[in-house]
Amino acid sequence: MFNPNDPKLRSFISVDPASDFPIQNLPYGVFSANGLAPRLGIAIGDYVLDLWELAQEGRLDVCEPAVFAATSLNAFMALGPSVWTRTRVRISELLRHDHPELRDNDELRKLALLPMKDVKLHLPFTVAGYTDFYSSKEHATNVGVMFRGKENALQPNWLHMPIGYNGRASTVVVSGTKVRRPRGQLKPPNVDAPSFGPCKRLDFELEMGVVIGQPSAMGEMISESRAEEMIFGFVLLNDWSARDIQQWEYVPLGPFQAKAFATSISPWVVTREALEPFRLQGPEQDPVPLPYLRQARPNNYDLTLEIGLRAGAMNEAQSIARTNFKYMYWSSVQQLMHHASSGCAMNAGDLLGSGTISGPEKTQRGSLLEISWNGTEPLELPGGIKRSFLEDGDSLVMRGWCQGDGYRVGFGEVEGTIVAAG
Ligand code: MN
Repeated sequence: MFNPNDPKLRSFISVDPASDFPIQNLPYGVFSANGLAPRLGIAIGDYVLDLWELAQEGRLDVCEPAVFAATSLNAFMALGPSVWTRTRVRISELLRHDHPELRDNDELRKLALLPMKDVKLHLPFTVAGYTDFYSSKEHATNVGVMFRGKENALQPNWLHMPIGYNGRASTVVVSGTKVRRPRGQLKPPNVDAPSFGPCKRLDFELEMGVVIGQPSAMGEMISESRAEEMIFGFVLLNDWSARDIQQWEYVPLGPFQAKAFATSISPWVVTREALEPFRLQGPEQDPVPLPYLRQARPNNYDLTLEIGLRAGAMNEAQSIARTNFKYMYWSSVQQLMHHASSGCAMNAGDLLGSGTISGPEKTQRGSLLEISWNGTEPLELPGGIKRSFLEDGDSLVMRGWCQGDGYRVGFGEVEGTIVAAG
């Protein structure tokens, strides 16, 4: 078997070096085109490769072809890591510049390769459960200072375990879905009694989402190597947050309605395997975690993340922050080991949000709450536009990519536009 991550690989489809989808990536998604039912595809350059079409033609002999005709990735993910690997290697082979099978078959190429601009992208998997973590030390410290003051910024448990809460799978939506401003109980600190109405402090959170591809049994603890095997891939994730609702409701059980109204993810799932070349060691963990949370391998990734905001009358999005997934204190593997440690079963299709990814610099903050410091330092945008929180009509775009030598393994984007509470 050849290495599908080899930087020297080239496809017969020409791919711009700045494209997110070279032959080294091959992310999975669900798409529909030409009035046909949704099915599985992978992104290559400006095209989508129809896996159902390839399987039907006997060119993708890795599992039952019907798996690729599904409207979600769940059945494919259930087949496990050895099938994921074989499928990725086979698709890479079919797309290679020096492999004639698809390259020289005009008819099959016409059937199986569709311009990405002509397809509709769907939510890529059925979300079984959604858990959101809080694993950036910089973010947790910033929020702690704003909500509780400098002395109590990090709670005493934070350095000992990945803190998280159970979110809502029912409102995870794909990029491009409009996000309605939530309503909720609001009680600003200077007012005596709460009222109910549209959120006034609507925010985003820049996160990565881990897609769990393999289940674990109730009562089963998960080792580091097992955790890795269970991770199918990653998506960009925007954990929309209503800060005013959150500030009033979060004590003592954490966020509830403040984050239950919408979570947006990118349509392409980048496999864990495609990110392998970009692994690196995360921040030093002090104190040393308890034995069940220790990891022997570097489980962070060098993954650049950028946030763009198109507010009001702006024609295009303006970059408002740039950070990196590598800053996360707790890795995705540690989150998963912790999640199952009590005996909690994990399901294929579970989505784990990393927590807001903020870096050490001011320009690396992953939420407006931090960027505008709870509204005290409004963000200044072109045309004299100012923002402390999101307004109706604002559009938020997140992008992410790992930079290789002459190519990048990217995620595309996750976009959401705010509409009025109505
Ligand atoms: Mn979050």
